[in-house]
Amino acid sequence: MKLKSDQMNYCLKSKHITSTLLGFGLIVFANQSQALELPLHDSVPGGIAIIKLNESAEVAPKVNYKNKPVMVIKHEQAWHALVGIPLAAKDGQHSITSKHAGTNHSYSFQVSDKQYETQHLTIKNKRKVNPNADDMKRINRERKKINAALAHWDDNFYTDTLQFELPVQGRLSSPFGLRRFFNEQPRRPHSGIDIAAPKGTPINAPASGKVILTGEFFFNGNSAFIDHGQGLITMYCHMDSIQVTDGQLVKRGEQIGSIGMTGRVTGPHLHWSISMNNARVDPNLIVPALRQTAQTETTTPSM
Ligand SMILES: [Zn+2]
Repeated sequence: MKLKSDQMNYCLKSKHITSTLLGFGLIVFANQSQALELPLHDSVPGGIAIIKLNESAEVAPKVNYKNKPVMVIKHEQAWHALVGIPLAAKDGQHSITSKHAGTNHSYSFQVSDKQYETQHLTIKNKRKVNPNADDMKRINRERKKINAALAHWDDNFYTDTLQFELPVQGRLSSPFGLRRFFNEQPRRPHSGIDIAAPKGTPINAPASGKVILTGEFFFNGNSAFIDHGQGLITMYCHMDSIQVTDGQLVKRGEQIGSIGMTGRVTGPHLHWSISMNNARVDPNLIVPALRQTAQTETTTPSM
């Protein structure tokens, strides 16, 4: 990843971060010759809009989308904003604002409609579809924690690449974006991908990052959240074991847990979500391996 000295200084402001990263062996802040590959641009709900900025300053401009910060990186000598577009976004004109040295710029971009397929699932444990009052209390408590983790913002980068690996080898059992019905009741769309594999199969970090939340949740089961920096968060659900702890730095390829069937599931699998500026985005855009295999099967849905 190409990071200019201003961005380095920005990161080095925090002594704690500096020592942690150096101890961790990341060279991202020292090596500016590395080429950074962008994710794919797909300006649709659940996609990523990559917007080239006109600001040529050394210091990265601060960019907001819907009043929240978005990732800004340097690519081929120009600043680019990487905007996660929520699945619930309406098609039409959207805009970001860029702030630098007291001046504001607005950039608009077009979001096109995308129709995702529909999926019907039957859940035997009815409480996992229609939770009781006590369950609802727990779910609401957990939702706050989960939302906070997904909305987490850290100016630093913990990854030196935006080309992620698959966290587990297995069968892609449910693609991203499916409009879902559980026991014929409409529920939120599928905001990640499901990878089915035998219980106990290792789950590895797809890129370096910092663990910001782990826990056992009503729907998501044993879960972990990794912050890769600048609003890029990944979430791992339904694990059998969690092998990391809150605050831990993990390297690309390091084991973080194992495949299980905790929470609302129909079989052992990993539910994996990628979030940018608190919008769940299609992993295909960030994971080259998903584009190469493209062997989507939806015959044995998990969750
Ligand atoms: Zn899932």
